Amino acid sequence: MNWHLQNLTQLQNSLQQGLIDSVGLTSFFLERISQLKHLNAFLDVQPETSMAQARQADLLIREGKGGPLTGIPIAHKDVFVTKVWKSTAGSKILANYSSPFDATVLERLGLDGAGMVSLGKTNMDEFAMGSSNENSAYGPTLNPWNLERVPGGSSGGSAAAVAAGLAPIATGTDTGGSIRQPAAFCGLTGLKPTYGRVSRYGMIAYASSLDQAGPMGKNAKDCSLIMNAIAGHDPKDSSSLEKDNEDYCRYLGKPWLDKNNLVDKPLQGLRIGVPKEYFSDGLDGEVRTAVENALRAFEDLGAVCVDVSLPKTELSIPTYYVLAPAEASSNLSRYDGVRYGHRSADYKNLAQMYERSRAEGFGAEVKRRILIGTYVLSQGYYDAYYLQAQKIRRIIAQDFQNTFLECDVLMGPVAPGVAWKFSEKSSDPVQMYLEDIYTLSPNLAGLPAMSIPCGCSTSKMPIGLQIIGNYFSEARMLQIADFFQQASNWHLQQSPILAPPASNGEVS
Ligand code: GLN
Repeated sequence: MNWHLQNLTQLQNSLQQGLIDSVGLTSFFLERISQLKHLNAFLDVQPETSMAQARQADLLIREGKGGPLTGIPIAHKDVFVTKVWKSTAGSKILANYSSPFDATVLERLGLDGAGMVSLGKTNMDEFAMGSSNENSAYGPTLNPWNLERVPGGSSGGSAAAVAAGLAPIATGTDTGGSIRQPAAFCGLTGLKPTYGRVSRYGMIAYASSLDQAGPMGKNAKDCSLIMNAIAGHDPKDSSSLEKDNEDYCRYLGKPWLDKNNLVDKPLQGLRIGVPKEYFSDGLDGEVRTAVENALRAFEDLGAVCVDVSLPKTELSIPTYYVLAPAEASSNLSRYDGVRYGHRSADYKNLAQMYERSRAEGFGAEVKRRILIGTYVLSQGYYDAYYLQAQKIRRIIAQDFQNTFLECDVLMGPVAPGVAWKFSEKSSDPVQMYLEDIYTLSPNLAGLPAMSIPCGCSTSKMPIGLQIIGNYFSEARMLQIADFFQQASNWHLQQSPILAPPASNGEVS
């Protein structure tokens, strides 16, 4: 059976009807993970623990105590700390580190929560710094669509795992695009929720005021189901918002306007803002065409497009690349070789131990960001860089609010192009940073944003459409994305690893 081609609803039905049990499903995916090891999507797999979890999940299902996700396997980005699996955040400095506790996201998805089975931890750019997975200390993950191309970053391992059918769904985190961009590069649906909606407790910190966890899966409905499990207040996270839980599936299949009988198109009344800055010269022609076609498809569903402006879009890059490194330099000061993580074997005094442990443990990009971060926070430069960036951050957030007076959601590309070839951009960090132009500002504003597949390039690489919503509008964004997916096939396209070339890559 092609269990790896099934979405969460199909898997749930298969489990409930007894066509397979969680033990069967879990061993199926573990087998695929070991068969497709060369993708380097996973950093740690502990089959015995996964199988033990599956047996417990089967028990819950048999006793009638299962929920919609019980017994379904999931992969987790290695940025979430775990007791059983190693938690490295893609860094050598945390090689072999296991946490004394599990991150809240994992707890909520696991047996004491939604009942899902963990398949292990996925590869990522070191400390989530990167856009291509090439910054992982454990070697990059390969893109299942084309093994010569990057899977995107930093949640590239999670994206590749789902795109290659190694897991039905995965978790990711997004500080400046790390859920949306790899989702776009691997043909997935990914959602970065409103800042504070999902607990950051147990998420290894990169830039605390921007980091947010979310799902990466085959479609919008799958993402809604995961959101139902992970979103909600967590007293252990001081930035977690005290807001009631909600059902993220509640609008799925319902028309945009609740006057059911008065509309003949499901998205009638929806106003889509199209920011002109998201279609500037740097945008690849094929990506532009795919995004424009998607906008036409939304119009066919009843929506109207309105031109809007986000004038500070270009400033999001310098702003983000001041603020994120500033926060990172503070967050990463805890890795000093004293309490946990790598400690140099060769030192003569305490200062040398710090220096050598960090020099040996951190990769080049992480060091670069620590240097930038300490520089922009230093006395004399603080006002010129950090404070100035904070002011622009506020203006960027306000610009979004101005556009939401004219529209309900914003749409545009996720990235300027499709997944590039390995090494194409890794020698020039600034070129890599420029790839983040469309994804950074929602994080700076704390807004929810998602990526859905909307096309394919002539190089046979997937293209993503970005949907940006106002605060807490995730359920509405998922509704919109779901309607698009009901009306199109882009999310059903399969990487060649799933559908060998004989099928011409066509969706059957
Ligand atoms: N590419 C961005 C960076 O390198 C964003 C990464 C992320 O969202 N974690 O910082």
